[in-house]
Amino acid sequence: MSEQNDPRVVVVTGGSRGLGAGIVREFLDDGSRVATCSRSATPAVEEWASEAPDRFLFVPADLADADDAKRFVDAVIERWGRIDVLVNNAGVARDGILGMMSDEDLDTVIDLNLKGTLYVTRLVSRRMLARRSGAIVNISSIVGISGYRGLTVYSATKAALDGLTRALARELGSRGITVNSIAPGYLRTEMSHGLDEDQLQQIVRRTPAGRLGEPADIARVVQFLVDPRNSYLTGQVIVVDGGLTS
Ligand code: NAP
Repeated sequence: MSEQNDPRVVVVTGGSRGLGAGIVREFLDDGSRVATCSRSATPAVEEWASEAPDRFLFVPADLADADDAKRFVDAVIERWGRIDVLVNNAGVARDGILGMMSDEDLDTVIDLNLKGTLYVTRLVSRRMLARRSGAIVNISSIVGISGYRGLTVYSATKAALDGLTRALARELGSRGITVNSIAPGYLRTEMSHGLDEDQLQQIVRRTPAGRLGEPADIARVVQFLVDPRNSYLTGQVIVVDGGLTS
């Protein structure tokens, strides 16, 4: 089979659960080869490995560590020789007002959300540049646009990802590579377990769609952004929040 007919190679960071797992599922369903990483495996990862052994790769890796990020990207290249799509999804939040935040929490959020994303994107974009094609999607957040009390550091990293998107789109655009952000609203994943029932109810009341987001709501937009037919769409932040910030 020629390379042109081979299924595309998709890298999704932090795909073991939550939104990342929804994105992995969507790409496996459309026949792509999918690589993901997280610090530990989950039952979903074990299932995909037995369901699609030729099209799924899991690498345990802590992306806050530049060496681990390299090990992950190297493993994908060793297995499939190229990367067509990168979805920077892995992220972490730490609640608390900035004035009370510990050094450790501050570093945890910045080291993964910002530095981890940069480590992986640096390596993958080099590969895409050499092949003159590719699509990158950064998962940011509406709080990077509107802010959220108690999530100052997290919001700062998410706004930084949108800046990364705009700058990198300019760097890579002439080489046929698109770079976009998706800014989700509040999703029903482990990350939103930090919000109490009152906060969740208030969010639902204020959301025109009348519900929290599901991973599949975002995964479908990821698919749209990385479709080669949408190669004129780059450098943008796409808000997918049920209308909450409209
Ligand atoms: P989640 O359920 O907590 O999942 C996070 C994923 O990232 C897991 O697979 C986790 O696995 C992995 N991860 C965490 N730390 C890692 C590290 N150091 N190295 C590698 N992987 C790591 O979160 P989620 O809600 O799905 O969030 C996914 C993305 O969407 C994040 O970027 C988040 O900021 C963004 N987002 C979420 C919401 C929301 O309401 N949930 C809203 C807007 C944006 P391990 O813990 O095993 O490493």
